[in-house]
Amino acid sequence: MQVVPDPGPGARAELDSLGIALAHRGSLADDDRHDESLHPRGAEPYAVARPVDRDDVVALVGWARRHGVAITARGAGTGLSGGAEPVEGSLVVCFDQMDRIVEVDLANQVAVVEAGVTLRQLNEHLAPYGLHYPVAPGETSSTLGGNVNTNAGGMRAVRHGVTRHHVLALELVLADGSVVRTGAPVAKLSSGYDLTQLVIGSEGTLALVTEVTVRLTPRADHRATVLAPFASLDAVTGAVTRLLRAGLTPSLLEYIDALTMAVLVRETPFTLGLAPERVAATAAYLVLVLETRTAAQLDEDLAASDEILEAAGALDALVLDGRAADDLIAGRERAFWFAKAAGANDIVDVVVPRAHVARYLEDVARLAGEHGALVTGCGHVGDGNVHLSVFCSDDAVRERLLVELYRAGIALGGAISGEHGLGRDKWEAYLELTDPALVALQRRVKAAFDPEGLLGPPARRA
Ligand SMILES: Cc1cc2nc3c(=O)[nH]c(=O)nc-3n(C[C@H](O)[C@H](O)[C@H](O)COP(=O)(O)OP(=O)(O)OC[C@H]3O[C@@H](n4cnc5c(N)ncnc54)[C@H](O)[C@@H]3O)c2cc1C
Repeated sequence: MQVVPDPGPGARAELDSLGIALAHRGSLADDDRHDESLHPRGAEPYAVARPVDRDDVVALVGWARRHGVAITARGAGTGLSGGAEPVEGSLVVCFDQMDRIVEVDLANQVAVVEAGVTLRQLNEHLAPYGLHYPVAPGETSSTLGGNVNTNAGGMRAVRHGVTRHHVLALELVLADGSVVRTGAPVAKLSSGYDLTQLVIGSEGTLALVTEVTVRLTPRADHRATVLAPFASLDAVTGAVTRLLRAGLTPSLLEYIDALTMAVLVRETPFTLGLAPERVAATAAYLVLVLETRTAAQLDEDLAASDEILEAAGALDALVLDGRAADDLIAGRERAFWFAKAAGANDIVDVVVPRAHVARYLEDVARLAGEHGALVTGCGHVGDGNVHLSVFCSDDAVRERLLVELYRAGIALGGAISGEHGLGRDKWEAYLELTDPALVALQRRVKAAFDPEGLLGPPARRA
C-alpha cells in the first residue's frame, strides 16, 4: 500500500464521525508513540483510535482502506521489539478499551476474552475459581491480544509452554474488513489449516485480533523457591538437564548471571544470604520454583532437586522463605528495567536448545570481547531462552555484534527471538539470516491475508 501522508480533511471528518475515541496529531499521549523497544523512531501516527468492540474495529479497517492509511495494532505497548511502535502516518488501533472477559467456562476450563484484557485482569478474575492462565511474560499489564501476536513466553514456559500452547480460538478482523473465527474451544482439532497458530506470533501483520479463547489451568497451592549458585554456566546448564531428565516439572527455571544478581540485590529488597566468598565464587545463579498440588509431593520434589543440584555442582541450595522468594522473582522480572537504567544499548532475547545455553553464552562472551562490548544477562534457562543486555555505544559496531550474536544462536539450532518477536528492531537481521525461500513463502502468506499491505510496518507489508 502506498501510504498517503495526509488523507485530507474529508477523511478526518469521516473518521471523527465513526464515534470512536480518537486522539489526533497534536493531542497524542506520549505513551502511544512507542513501545518498550530501546530504539523508538519518533514517528507520528495519523491518529490513535480506541475501539470498544469488534464493530468499531471493522469500521476502522474500512476507513483505513478507503483512505490508504496503514494500521499499527497496539495492545499495552509493553513489547520489546518495536512491533507496536506507530509507523509514520498510520492509524494506531489500540485495544486497551476492549477489555471484557466475555466468558469463563469452568466445566471446560476455557475463557473467552476481548483482545485488550490484560494478564493481571484475567488472573485476578480467575483466582476465586482456583484457576489461572499460566503464561507469564514479565509484564502483567500486557494484553492477551499482544501476547497472541508476540507468542509471549515468560518465566513459566518451562512447565506450561508459551502462548501458542494455550490459545484455542481467535476472532479476527481481516484487512478486507471481514470477520472470521479460527479454531474452537476443544482439546483437539484436525479440520483444515491451523490458522489460529499461523496468526499467533504474527505481530499485527496478518489480522487484527479482537477476541481470544484460552485454555485455563488449575493452580497448584504448594510452592518452594530454591536459589542455587554455581561456579560456571556450564554447571547451571548441566543442572537444568538433570532436573528435567529426572521428571521434575519446575514451574520456573531461570538463570541470573553474577553481575545481574549484584544489581538486583542493590536495587531490590532481596538479600542473597550467602557468604561473600561464595558470592565471589559464583558465575551464575539458578532459580528453581517447584509447585505441586500437595505438601507431600512438594517435600519429595524438593528432596530430589536438592540431590540433583548437589550432584550438578551447586555451591549451595537455599530454600527461600515466601517473602524472599517473592522479592527475588519480582527482582528478576525487573531485570529489563535495571539493564535499561544502567544504560544498556540493546536488550535482546535469543533462543537455543536448552542444553546449549552454556556454549552459547561462551560464544556471546567471545563475540562481545571481539567487538569491545559488554554483554550481561539472565533468562529462561529451562527454555534455552537468554536475555542479553548489550552495552556498546557505537551503533555500527553494535549492529554487527547483534547480527553475530543471532548468527551464533542459529548455528546452535536456535532462533533470533524466542519470545519478544522481530517487530521492527530485528526484521532486517531476520532477513539477513533467514533462508530467502522461507522469507518468500512468508511474504506469500502475508499477501494472502493482506493483499493491499494495510497491516504492520512498511518493511513487512511488501
Ligand atoms: C519488563 C518487561 C518484561 C517482559 N518480559 C517478557 C517475558 O518474560 N516474556 C515475553 O514473552 N515478553 C516479555 N515482555 C514483552 C511484552 O510484555 C510482550 O511482548 C507482550 O506480549 C506484549 O503485549 P502488549 O499488550 O504490550 O502488546 P504490544 O506491545 O502493544 O504489541 C505487541 C505486538 O502485537 C501486536 N498487537 C497487539 N495487539 C494486537 C491485536 N489485538 N491484534 C493484532 N496485533 C496486535 C502489535 O502490533 C505488536 O506487533 C516484557 C516486557 C517488559 C517491558
